[in-house]
Amino acid sequence: MSNLHKALLTASVALLGLNGCGSADRPEAETASTTRQGVEVATAIPLPIPACALLPDTDGDAVCDAVETLLGTNPNNPDTDGDRLNDYAESFGFGGGLDLTALGANARRKDIFIEADYYPGLQPTQAMLNRVITAFANAPVTNPDGSTGITLHVVVDQQIAAADADSDLSPVWTDFDVIKGKYFAAIRAPYFHYMLFANRYSGGNSSGISRGIPAHDFVVTLGFIGGGTELQQAGTLMHELGHNIGLRHGGTDDSNYKPHYLSIMNYEYQFYGFGIGGLNNVLDYSRVRVSAFSEAAVIEVTAFAPAAPTTEADLAKISGLRFNNVQVVGNASTNLDFNGDGIIQAGSYARDFNRNGVTTDGYPASQNDWLALVYDGGGQIGFATPGITQDLGREDLYLVAPEKMEPCLTVDERDGR
Ligand SMILES: [Zn+2]
Repeated sequence: MSNLHKALLTASVALLGLNGCGSADRPEAETASTTRQGVEVATAIPLPIPACALLPDTDGDAVCDAVETLLGTNPNNPDTDGDRLNDYAESFGFGGGLDLTALGANARRKDIFIEADYYPGLQPTQAMLNRVITAFANAPVTNPDGSTGITLHVVVDQQIAAADADSDLSPVWTDFDVIKGKYFAAIRAPYFHYMLFANRYSGGNSSGISRGIPAHDFVVTLGFIGGGTELQQAGTLMHELGHNIGLRHGGTDDSNYKPHYLSIMNYEYQFYGFGIGGLNNVLDYSRVRVSAFSEAAVIEVTAFAPAAPTTEADLAKISGLRFNNVQVVGNASTNLDFNGDGIIQAGSYARDFNRNGVTTDGYPASQNDWLALVYDGGGQIGFATPGITQDLGREDLYLVAPEKMEPCLTVDERDGR
């Protein structure tokens, strides 16, 4: 919390004669990935901000123009950074588990909040979560504060009691809602996605499912293979979250396995990620646009062509590419061994990439996923009334215990969408 915020909050408390419970003496802002539990249950900050009470508030976000000027937020836009979390919520928070400010929210940089609950034995590790948090931090997305990236906040909340840990969520959303109703505080709904690490759904072998596109709920169901590897968990989390924020298996469409769609939303990459910047297994949504591509005219030497504003140099940074479930050598710009035969062929050939039995499919230019994200959770998230004063009424201890990761098995049908 900045000194300015502290001063404003202290002034608010003093003016209203409050005892300061849960407001001016709140903890310092935590890091984006910090798990936070046992949150103090307290009355939230009252509204309007006293210093603002008689002053103009052009955008109606409960932060008056004068304070917005001090904060550097836009007095004409209630959501300065465009993440659907309003400037009041991000600048002042509400206390009692909704204290987005203490959780690290920034009204001038995009934030996404997730509450995570988990079945016994499926507690997400910080190392796993950090793979996804890092991917969002590295997003090619600009912010009003001049930074790039998105801050992903994963609040690991609590373990689902064994008696509630339905081994097969079926029908998935009916059974999911029973758990969500018991373990997710409804007051968080306008701000948080809800994620459940569970065992299985609908009797199948799918790794997870999103409740629509876009949406605010998703499940990662790797419990039936012992939990999966760290990479499988992180990749699935990011894939299902991708559906929550508007991405489809082909980016803008449902066409899976498009060879030039370089995103973890493409099944080819969900469990593997990419080679980027000398690192392997880097999770990423598509950060490039690739020109239209034809199965009938594959040329390994020239690989893919960039679509503006993407450049050949951008494509050259991406390796670890996969086609027909095989990782091949080369990068997206040049000398890419599409058929995995170990030879970079000079000529052109035809190949079936999307596994439909023909080699004649053409694909339109791919999208840059990061610039296409939808932050409203399918209409659920964002622009809730500022200044709600409620508490969560529960204080569940977050127990830190290392999880044993079982060897992974291949999940053939990775996703229900
Ligand atoms: Zn999917």
